[in-house]
Amino acid sequence: MSLLIRGIRELVTNDPAWGGGPLGLVADAAVVVEDGVFAWVGPAGQAPPADAVVDVGGAAAIPGFVDSHSHLVFAGDRVEEFTARMSSAPYRPGGIRSTVARTRAASDAELAGRAAGLVAEMTRSGTTTVEIKSGYGLTVGDEARACAIAGRLTDEVTFLGAHVAPPEYADDRDAYVDLVTGPMLQACAPHARWIDVFCEIGAFDAEQSLAVLKAGGQAGLGGRLHAAQLGPSAVIRPAIELGVASIDHCTFLSGRDVADLADSGTVATLLPGAEFCTRQPYPDARRLLDAGVTVALATDCNPGTSYTTSMPFCLALAVRELGMTPAEALWAATAGGAAALRRQDVGRVRVAARADLVVLDAPSHAHLMYRPGVDLVSHVYVKGSLKWSRSVK
Ligand SMILES: [Zn+2]
Repeated sequence: MSLLIRGIRELVTNDPAWGGGPLGLVADAAVVVEDGVFAWVGPAGQAPPADAVVDVGGAAAIPGFVDSHSHLVFAGDRVEEFTARMSSAPYRPGGIRSTVARTRAASDAELAGRAAGLVAEMTRSGTTTVEIKSGYGLTVGDEARACAIAGRLTDEVTFLGAHVAPPEYADDRDAYVDLVTGPMLQACAPHARWIDVFCEIGAFDAEQSLAVLKAGGQAGLGGRLHAAQLGPSAVIRPAIELGVASIDHCTFLSGRDVADLADSGTVATLLPGAEFCTRQPYPDARRLLDAGVTVALATDCNPGTSYTTSMPFCLALAVRELGMTPAEALWAATAGGAAALRRQDVGRVRVAARADLVVLDAPSHAHLMYRPGVDLVSHVYVKGSLKWSRSVK
């Protein structure tokens, strides 16, 4: 059965053939969805007939957000840590270890319920594709179960056994890397598409990080990387040479790092929710964009450093704090996220793409950033079906 959605005052397609720059804007637009994909896109006056019609009454519509970086499989929260940090209390390390301990102690049902609840929260704010990482189990069994739970919620599962060395390996990180690249990888690879590693002082060094990425590649997983969040990193160029899809955080990049990214197929994924929640310096998106780097925006949703599921909140931060224009921010949160996941079928509104469409209670996409903190998402279609709306809860 086909569905015609019309009355779209401004449609963002991310198909530059429509004009209006990379967003590919169509005024007074309509789309037809059928069998889960867009069957037709264009001016409403030229729309073909369909079995059913919905008129959105002059609203703007955008591709569903692609949140390409999240950590949703965990138990408990760390609100006391956040409150202390925002009260300028002395920082007490070990926060992630408290999440690891609670995650290990939680039942499968508890972890799955929490993760599903967060995905539902994402849907309500317009996210239609999400990547989910493991990384709070840090044993073979706990990481495999986190990947399996994530796999019930998304196709984009990332094995992040190398998030941090667990307490029992605190004095021998090399031994932990052997575990991650050996039995843990074997147990997790069947559930995952990606492998990720946190390359930072206090987590894993460049040599250990590259060993993890290489082992993942040999097991058939694509590479992603957390790097340059807290300080400069030597891992950027070798990681690009390994072909990682995305390097995430990218706050402390050298000029050489930026040039290497611009010359590569690797996306720089920026996560301004993390800087907001930790009062750290924001990355400079303007510098990356001006150099020609492909930029994605994601939430980094996790209980310690960015407990938000809201892409609109990250868009507002990106425009205010990262130097992005509203158009650049929206592209980065949709087509940019798709590039970071090496997906062609999401993050854009064009024939044969997955019919993921978000209708806004606003006349243009810029209202997402112009009206920060205001929930403007009114309808969310996933694969052509209405997944959420303000009236159908
Ligand atoms: Zn992260």
